[in-house]
Amino acid sequence: MTDSISKERRSANMSRIKSRDTKPEKTVRSALHRLGFRFRLYRPNLPGKPDIVLPKYKVVIFVHGCFWHQHAGCKRATQPKSNRKYWTPKLKRNIERFYEIKREYRQMGWKVLVIWECEAKKAAKLIMKLNLIK
Ligand SMILES: [Zn+2]
Repeated sequence: MTDSISKERRSANMSRIKSRDTKPEKTVRSALHRLGFRFRLYRPNLPGKPDIVLPKYKVVIFVHGCFWHQHAGCKRATQPKSNRKYWTPKLKRNIERFYEIKREYRQMGWKVLVIWECEAKKAAKLIMKLNLIK
């Protein structure tokens, strides 16, 4: 019992700290560079603290972990088998919060582009998606 609580708390702490400079983020940034985009990183004053901001295009990019944001139809978006009482609402909240964030950008006249962690691994798909910004 004690162990499962501490494990739960540990996961909560881990998820609260949004990791920066993860491999998928770096991949997306270098792809943007190659495509000639100019961008900024991390504008803390924008809703949801986007990973990449392209002010010229009024586009923000979120590089989403397939698990944390439950990428639909993705094999990485598994629901944990243990601690369901903890995980199910938590993952649901992530999704709901992101809906809110998207709505805020829509109202601001900005576009939101989501790059999934698994997409960052497929160069062709990534380039295709990033080219949509222009
Ligand atoms: Zn995925």
